[in-house]
Amino acid sequence: MKVVLQNLTKKFPGRGRKHAEEVTAVNDFTFEIPDGELVGLLGPSGCGKSTTLNLISGLLKPTGGRIFFGEDDITELPPENRGVGLVFQNYALYPHLTVKQNILFPLQNLKGKDKLSKAVMLEKANEAARLVQIDELMDRKPGELSGGQQQRVAIARALVKMPDVLLLDEPLSNLDARLRLQTREEIRRIQKETGITTVFVTHDQEEAMSISDRIVVMKDGIVQQIGKPQAVYDDPVNLFVARFLGTPPINVFAGRCRDGRLYVGQDAVLGVSGIADQEVYVGVRPEGFVLCEDGPFVCRFGSVEVMGRDISVVSEHDASVGPTVRAIISAENRVDTTNGTVRFSLKPQKVFLFSKETEERIQGGITECINGVTMSGRRL
Ligand code: ADP
Ligand code: MG
Repeated sequence: MKVVLQNLTKKFPGRGRKHAEEVTAVNDFTFEIPDGELVGLLGPSGCGKSTTLNLISGLLKPTGGRIFFGEDDITELPPENRGVGLVFQNYALYPHLTVKQNILFPLQNLKGKDKLSKAVMLEKANEAARLVQIDELMDRKPGELSGGQQQRVAIARALVKMPDVLLLDEPLSNLDARLRLQTREEIRRIQKETGITTVFVTHDQEEAMSISDRIVVMKDGIVQQIGKPQAVYDDPVNLFVARFLGTPPINVFAGRCRDGRLYVGQDAVLGVSGIADQEVYVGVRPEGFVLCEDGPFVCRFGSVEVMGRDISVVSEHDASVGPTVRAIISAENRVDTTNGTVRFSLKPQKVFLFSKETEERIQGGITECINGVTMSGRRL
């Protein structure tokens, strides 16, 4: 089922003197979730993710805008008639009911022509349980399950009616790291198997990147960028998006463009073309640094952290906005730290420039050299 949000807005009235101002939790959202896709809503806490999800589910009424499921305008439809399945962070299972009874619960509430026979209900519950691989736990109570198993029960309960749209609000937050990984792969598998259009809310960029067909990056109730995870990572529209995606995060420096060169501190580190002379923020992905004896980018060496396949070179630079600079290099490299410095050249495609004023991305050519000469003076 395709889901379309059209100029969707939700404002909450201010409460009391301290919070007198109205909050615009969701500000003029327009985007389409294609049928059968898993879309990750991603952004920091308070940016409006849950509000968006609750508008889609019908638990909240929008202040403005429309919601369509397929071609149908469902903006005024109550939640129970929308055909959505919901899973929250806290599994919200009924503690006194068994797993089976918990999963059956949504089916037992069906009325009139939707009412099902006991045998059909059981069959559906068993099928949902099989899908999330808890069919052996059907007679246990939630208190006798691990967190991961409880969350599977919650997912089975959301799936049992085979909803057109599955809505997951930070479903993995209460799980430990290993279970989180495992459960997110499970969710992906189930989503692919069932083909249910799914919206997955998380503040964890790695989680969103790994699970989603498409991510929607949000900030302060406003959509910043929508796209395939890799495409957004490789081509962020502004400094916020560039910083939000990637671990370790992108390194940011104060810099300037002048006469076709990009300067960070006193050093010209790259060539630029089609970019007016101006002050900029320079974002360099950790994998954008290349160890290079006569590289133009000179940092004060700090330490090397071994991560197995890669090493992380931690250093400092006066123009760095953050306290340290982090470069990820293949472990086969030897780090030369003569004089307490470490020198790099930069991969142009891993460097992004942002306006110092607006923090929007500045488009233009970035090159390693000018007239065939690299910034470190080598001739190519
Ligand atoms: P997220 O899920 O991304 O953390 P939310 O959608 O829960 O963010 O909240 C977005 C903004 O709306 C926040 O500033 C939050 O304080 C505000 N908000 C959410 N629900 C309500 C409510 N019922 N009443 C007033 N303000 C709310
Ligand atoms: Mg939330």
